[in-house]
Amino acid sequence: MIKSVAGVAILPKHRLSCHCGAVVLELDLPDGIVNPRRCDCSICRRKGAIVASVPLSGITVIQGGEALKLYQFNTKVAKHYFCAHCGIYTHHQRRSFPDQYGYNVGCLEGVNPFALEPVPLNDGVNHPADRQG
Ligand SMILES: [Zn+2]
Repeated sequence: MIKSVAGVAILPKHRLSCHCGAVVLELDLPDGIVNPRRCDCSICRRKGAIVASVPLSGITVIQGGEALKLYQFNTKVAKHYFCAHCGIYTHHQRRSFPDQYGYNVGCLEGVNPFALEPVPLNDGVNHPADRQG
């Protein structure tokens, strides 16, 4: 658990915003940033974002719910949300753990995601749900 990044405290209720500011979410982060990671699946390799996890109850939309667009592909289990105005990925409901959201660490107010390096890589190409036998 990461409670501060380069001197910036991760608040128990920390705000997350898209680039244009239309979308503002409040995250419950009592344990700070949990399980930050990159992923090499087909969508994450294009986004390039560092992602961390919260339970589904851990995200409240403060502003801009109408600006959030949903993108789904393949098995259509995961729900990927982004701002319709600036295009920035904010969060997604995970496929491997549907009781969790992943969120864009780079959207946390005041947090420089590059200060987290090194960040582990998730093996998203070989998704657990795609492995057989
Ligand atoms: Zn936006």
